[in-house]
This record gives sequence, structure tokens and C-alpha cells, in this order.
Amino acid sequence: MSDLKIAAVECFLTQPASQRLIVVKVTTSEPGLYGLGCATFTQRHRAVQAAVEHHIGPFAVGKDPRAIEDFWQSAMVNGYWRNGPVLNNAISGVDMALWDIKGKLAGMPCYQLWGGACRAAAAVYSHANGREPQEVADDVRRLMAAGFHHIRCQLGGYQGVGDARKPEGAPPGAYFSPRESLHRLPALFEYLRRELGEQVELLHDVHERLAPIDAVWLAKALEPYRLFFLEDLLAPEDIEWFANVRAVCATPLAMGELFNHPREITPLIAGRLIDFIRCHVSQIGGATPALKLAHFAEAFGVRTAWHGPGDVSPVGMVANVHLDVACHNFGIQEWGGRPDLEYEMFPGLPRVERGYVRPNDKPGWGIEFNETLAARHPCTDENPTWTVSRLPDGTLWRP
Ligand code: MG
Repeated sequence: MSDLKIAAVECFLTQPASQRLIVVKVTTSEPGLYGLGCATFTQRHRAVQAAVEHHIGPFAVGKDPRAIEDFWQSAMVNGYWRNGPVLNNAISGVDMALWDIKGKLAGMPCYQLWGGACRAAAAVYSHANGREPQEVADDVRRLMAAGFHHIRCQLGGYQGVGDARKPEGAPPGAYFSPRESLHRLPALFEYLRRELGEQVELLHDVHERLAPIDAVWLAKALEPYRLFFLEDLLAPEDIEWFANVRAVCATPLAMGELFNHPREITPLIAGRLIDFIRCHVSQIGGATPALKLAHFAEAFGVRTAWHGPGDVSPVGMVANVHLDVACHNFGIQEWGGRPDLEYEMFPGLPRVERGYVRPNDKPGWGIEFNETLAARHPCTDENPTWTVSRLPDGTLWRP
């Protein structure tokens, strides 16, 4: 097998439920030896497909699939300009597939290649939502009954609740009131702690919607309710404000799903300004950079919490879980509800049991992909509407 080569790189788009998923398959010159990777950028799926089919795939064909580091480094600079969400996802699709192949060649699950499992399973968190605190509490109780110990709590999703102050002629959009959030969120968590006590870990995602000084105030106001973490309190454009947050409270902070470039990430970790790094693994270029980022974060006491809602494919989710059990500084794994069809389309996708997931013992990622079934669920091409977020007067705001 000394002349093992990448024979083909294929890109599959499928939409088993609301999210468009992108899966890359790398086949080799060895019959039956192939790997799967996640390249999911759900809002710009056709752009990633073009990047895989016209640029990254042809660049990979003919190379040795065992030389993962060389592929990753060379793919990142081959187009000269680097570190953007489309190209990083395309590189991730191949990178993860090469790790899958590496595991199959070794006869080991990927987590074994990275030093073996250092925990029995990875704790996951799920999402509770409601328009009123009592509705959120009921949803938390439902998830606790299903075995979850960590639950993200949102009041009216990301938009918050109520858009009654819209002026006449306001354009369409997902309306959101930052002032209402500031008013209602501390009351929500005060209610949840009063109702649920300390038996459950609570999380919240601000989704970078507040003005920086309001974000500082909110982190301080939520401190008494001992969140597991407060996520995306600030936008990537405002990260210098994290120092102000740290100066006034000890609310644990999670950040990173929007990051592409290592220089966006490393100052927050090295400055000990966040507690959890939350990158979308395919967005930063795959398992190769994620593994390095996890080890870098470990040196600064920062834990991992890889992005894991429905817009990470099942292949990406199992890659997350392999990282989770292999990295000592694992913190928590986000786990969106996976539709039943995904379990049929991706045999090997683990199920949550009592709030935990674990990888199986098959070589590589331990997941398969039913291409025939995927082809029966093609992608829609509409632009998303939830990202057209607006303030009460109609001003466009961050989603
Ligand atoms: Mg988030």
C-alpha cells in the first residue's frame, strides 16, 4: 500500500430535515478504503460544493491520503488567500475524511489515534425554549426527564419576545429588542433557579445581539444564577470588551462559533478571557486544526464546547465526539435534536443516553452514509430569513 493515493473526492448535499448538510467522501486507490468528512455551511451550501468540486477536490486527488498534515497545510495556502468559511469547510470535508481513512488503516477509532479516551462518555447539552419563564421551566423539566443534565435556556429563541414597538412601514425581519432582553433574562434565570434548584446546569446564548456595555451588565446580572456558561455575549467585532466583563464578574464565558481564523481565537484563550472555546469544527478547517486548538486551549485552562446544533452533519457530530473523549480539557458538547431520518441516513450516529454520547469502537469515525437515501432528500436553495435580524425601529442587526 506504499503507493496509496486519493482517487476521487465527491461532495454530497442533502436535507433530511430543516438543515442543509454537506458530506464529502474521499475514495482511495485501495478498493473499499474511503473516508467521510463534514463540510457543512448550511447557508452557503452551493458555494462549498463548488469549492470542493472545482478546487479542493482536484487539489487532493493523487496525493497520499495518509499525509494529513501536509494536505491541510498545502490546501490552506494553495489558493494564496486563506481562512474563509467556504474554503475552510471544503478543506474540512477532505481533512475529516483523511482522518477516517487513517483510522481505518490503523484499525482504530480516531480517538485512539489521538491518545485514547480519557473519559467514559461526553456530556451533552440540549436546548429549552419558551415565551414565558414558566414555559421555559416546563421545557427544562422535559429535557431533564429525558436524562439531560445541561440545558441551554432561551426566552423566545434568539429574537427574544415581542415586536410590538415596530413603527409603521417597518421592513420584514426577525425583530428583537435588546432592552427587553436585559429586562427579562435575569428574571428568567432567577425563576429557573427558584423552581429547579441546583439539580441542573443552565446555559444561555446571547447570540452577540447586545451593545457591548449592555453585554457587560448582563453577565454581571446573571452571575448569581451560576450559569454553566454564557455564550456569544459579544460579537467577534467587539472581543476587546471581554476584559471589561472579566473585571466585573465570574460568569463563565463561551465564544467561537463564528470564528474562522486562528488570530481571532488565540488572543481570547491566551488572555484567559473566555472559559470555553466553541468553534464550528468544519468552519475552522476540520479535525486537524481543532485538535491543535484544543491542546492550545488546555495550556490556558480553557475547555472545549464544539458547536453542535442541527447544522453540523452527523459526520461532523461524530468527529466532535471523538475530540470530546480524547481531549482532556473537554467541557461540554452541544447536541441538537437529530431527526430519525438522520439515523437512517448515517448509520453509526450515536444516541444520547442519560445526557451522554460516546463514539463506537469501529475504525475511523465509525459512521456510514447512505448516498441513495440522501439523494432522495435534495436541498432547498432559499436564503435564510432568521439572519435578517432587526431592532424595534427596523435597523438591521446581527443575527
Ligand atoms: Mg451559539
